Amino acid sequence: MSEPLLRGLAAGDPPSATGPVTGSADKVADVLIVGGGLVGGTLACALAEKGVSVVVIDGEDPEALLAAGYDGRCSAIALACQRLLATIGLWDLLGGESQPILDIRVVDGGSPLFLHYAQAEAQGPMGYMVENRLLRQAILTRLGRLPAATLLAPARMTALRRDLDGVSATLSDGQTVRARLVVGADGRRSQVRESAGIGIRTLGYGQTAIVLTVEHERPHRGCAVEHFLPAGPFAILPMPGNRSSLVWTERSDLVSGLLALPAERFQAELERRFGDHLGWVRPVGPRFSYPLTLQAANRYVDRRLALVGDAAHGMHPVAGQGMNYGLRDVAVLAERLVVAQRLGLDPGAPALLAEYEALRRPDNLLMLAITDALVRLFSNDIAPVALARRLGIGAVERMGPLKRLFMRHAMGTLKLGPPPPRLMRGVPL
Ligand SMILES: Cc1cc2nc3c(=O)[nH]c(=O)nc-3n(C[C@H](O)[C@H](O)[C@H](O)COP(=O)(O)OP(=O)(O)OC[C@H]3O[C@@H](n4cnc5c(N)ncnc54)[C@H](O)[C@@H]3O)c2cc1C
Repeated sequence: MSEPLLRGLAAGDPPSATGPVTGSADKVADVLIVGGGLVGGTLACALAEKGVSVVVIDGEDPEALLAAGYDGRCSAIALACQRLLATIGLWDLLGGESQPILDIRVVDGGSPLFLHYAQAEAQGPMGYMVENRLLRQAILTRLGRLPAATLLAPARMTALRRDLDGVSATLSDGQTVRARLVVGADGRRSQVRESAGIGIRTLGYGQTAIVLTVEHERPHRGCAVEHFLPAGPFAILPMPGNRSSLVWTERSDLVSGLLALPAERFQAELERRFGDHLGWVRPVGPRFSYPLTLQAANRYVDRRLALVGDAAHGMHPVAGQGMNYGLRDVAVLAERLVVAQRLGLDPGAPALLAEYEALRRPDNLLMLAITDALVRLFSNDIAPVALARRLGIGAVERMGPLKRLFMRHAMGTLKLGPPPPRLMRGVPL
């Protein structure tokens, strides 16, 4: 374990413009973010860039994030979320290590009918693929350059107390942090959520995703392929160079056996699903696995507390939207907290938190329902269902306006309901 990174405001430093935080602590800030993952880390950057003081606690050792064996996943980032990352200075830090998604093909089993989205229809890339590991490194670098941000890592929150005028957290190393709002960005097993007694609804799919990177003979030309097989989706997602990231969904009870296969037999299983459209294919790097469930928090807010990202909503990766929807939470919450700071208002005010929940929960619930329906519709081989969905795919392919509507929704650029938050439009806060 490396030395914890301790920077930023120390005890005795002047509190922020939003008013004093009472009580003594080792660190004092406007906002305490528990969890510095892709969502919590991005929120911290968006706030600190505008002078809102934040302390981020994260359980991961920053040095572990540099290793090639960390996480293993690549995220499809919708166009609107790419704008957000660019606006707060994270995108440039990727140093061009992203792959534009220029085409998307959705194929159902062995059916000749498929849905095809080409960049000509989208008038540019539909999104980008980025390695999670690289995005986390960019977040670390950015946080290190923002004087209003303090990252405490590796450190875990062990206790959280909330009262009328603030929150206090105790960390595994005994340090204390005092703030006016705590944001739970601590993932699916959120301790912040549990500490507030916020319940969750969970649905299991009996599916686990095997994730790995492969290299192949021929270029993918920026094309993402989602192949719906009876065991679940098999996604081939383009990465820079002749490489792709695979999200290979299988029945959970079969996964440990597949992961333990010797290289030759694993290769045969891989080729059987991958096909030969990109020439030869071979795995590079380790195999990872992620059990897949749906999870929805009953509430997103409580006294001086808000949940974002997977702590609030965990979805099946079938549509590649989990992190994108977490970044939508970030855009809405950051906008309100930055405005509150400018006006000298309390960042933990009940009205602010209620507005955040009202804007984000219905949107997330809708996407949870869509991903759930997709998984149930496609992960089976019952003949009438298979026929209906193949006809459905063929029909959508022929219906230009409906097809474009799906595309804009996935890109995060569909204009429905309230206007999108500023960061999703690429407008600085
Ligand atoms: C196979 C797979 C593929 C996916 N592909 C995509 C995709 O293409 N596009 C997309 O948008 N989404 C995708 N997702 C979803 C996406 O990965 C998640 O939605 C996203 O990572 C959630 O980020 P988060 O920051 O909310 O939570 P996490 O990534 O879970 O981060 C939580 C952080 O909190 C820290 N933490 C937890 N508890 C504590 C504590 N007590 N104290 C201190 N720190 C703590 C953890 O160390 C961690 O760093 C995919 C998911 C899977 C499983």
